[in-house]
Amino acid sequence: MEFDTIAAISTALGEGAIGIVRLSGDDAILIADQLYKGKEPLSQVPSHTIVYGHIIDLASNERVEEAMVSVMRAPKTFTREDVVEINCHGGLLSVNRVLKLALRHGARLAEPGEFTKRAFLNGRIDLSQAEGVIDLIRAKTDRAMNVALNQVDGRLSKKLATLRQALLETVAHVEVNIDYPEYDAEVMTHRILQEKAIFVIEEIDQLLGTAAQGKILREGISTVIIGRPNVGKSSLLNSLVHENKAIVTDVAGTTRDIIEEYVNVKGIPLRLVDTAGIRETEDLVERIGVERSREVLKKADLILLVLNYGEELSPEDEALFEAVEKMNVIVIVNKTDIEKKIDLEKVKSLARSNPLVTTSLLHDEGVEQLEQAIADLFFEGEIEGADVTYVSNTRHIALLEQAKATIQDAVAAIEMDVPIDLIQIDVTRTWELLGEIIGDSVQESLIDQLFSQFCLGK
Ligand code: GDP
Ligand code: ZN
Repeated sequence: MEFDTIAAISTALGEGAIGIVRLSGDDAILIADQLYKGKEPLSQVPSHTIVYGHIIDLASNERVEEAMVSVMRAPKTFTREDVVEINCHGGLLSVNRVLKLALRHGARLAEPGEFTKRAFLNGRIDLSQAEGVIDLIRAKTDRAMNVALNQVDGRLSKKLATLRQALLETVAHVEVNIDYPEYDAEVMTHRILQEKAIFVIEEIDQLLGTAAQGKILREGISTVIIGRPNVGKSSLLNSLVHENKAIVTDVAGTTRDIIEEYVNVKGIPLRLVDTAGIRETEDLVERIGVERSREVLKKADLILLVLNYGEELSPEDEALFEAVEKMNVIVIVNKTDIEKKIDLEKVKSLARSNPLVTTSLLHDEGVEQLEQAIADLFFEGEIEGADVTYVSNTRHIALLEQAKATIQDAVAAIEMDVPIDLIQIDVTRTWELLGEIIGDSVQESLIDQLFSQFCLGK
């Protein structure tokens, strides 16, 4: 494929001392040569080497930057095109100047995700791998990063390829039977079809079985802390944030930006929702009466319900239990360092099968147990079972579900002795649906939409 040459700043803006301007396309080296002066022109430099030189503005004949420039010729590059990376050590201003020079000499400013899009369009990676790159950029914990890396690595792609191969073989087998009826072994064909279809269903089920955890690793567990005033909600929030590295993310909202805080609990990203609310207003019970708070509760994956060890259970406490019925709740009885007033048996009966943890946040006790309870609740404790191919992307999950339904139709049809060429339609459709995950036959508009989620320079 042939594309124009694109350029962008590919390091995070404003961060770090080094900024990289990346160019990709047929003219990448030609364009870079017009703003670079070193021992030899970049066109003479062997592929995959870094050279030292200066960036110059030909118009004013001024030295803009000292730079290390990497030259990488197609096809062994990220985009499979010629790629030049100009490493500048000046701040944002000089990186911007270098980018502007590249644009003036004929490069076009890359759209968000356009480098990765080219890697996809040039066939270096498939769509699910490209989506893994998005997840990688956004990953909140090491573990989430591993899941994304596996996807970039093509683990999901390989698995899907195996399934599609199995489907293809059955289609081929059916073709033979249609073309050579004298060779016919209808019964045999039915049996093979059924076997392969059931194999595919099992494998899809296995993948779908990882979706809940995959989504958690990808998006985090949205967590709300509730409890009466003074039970220790803020203290809990603080110890979770302090013991773990808090990651504060800006989420572009429609009306205003909401600040979300992520904490890393045993590799699971916990998204603490509405923490500003907890910090500002102390009267959570009152706020729960408000419709909005109920909405927040409903959307949460996890509720941390805090009680006071040194006080009797109150009707408000019981109302809280009621408000979070049927949700994932961990009950925390805090302030075990003071004299016991709470009826623990009553708490246990209110908590029913939900985990119960006692803490003394003042003395930093019980937080580890709480974290273990969270990990157990969502990962049955097996957080290190890292060798799983997780499916975490909503688009992939939807396609897997459709594929499963379609191949199930085929199985039902086999059982009803429907003519084989009709069954073949379902098998082929399943093959197509699985292919859409890796970008076979997906529409251009969808591709554009997917890649627009990237940040600039990727
Ligand atoms: P919130 O109103 O639920 O957010 O409760 P805070 O976290 O603001 O805590 C209320 C008070 O209880 C503060 O003075 C805390 O220092 C104190 N506190 C929190 N946890 C403990 C604990 O485990 N033991 C004792 N004795 N005091 C605690
Ligand atoms: Zn508080």
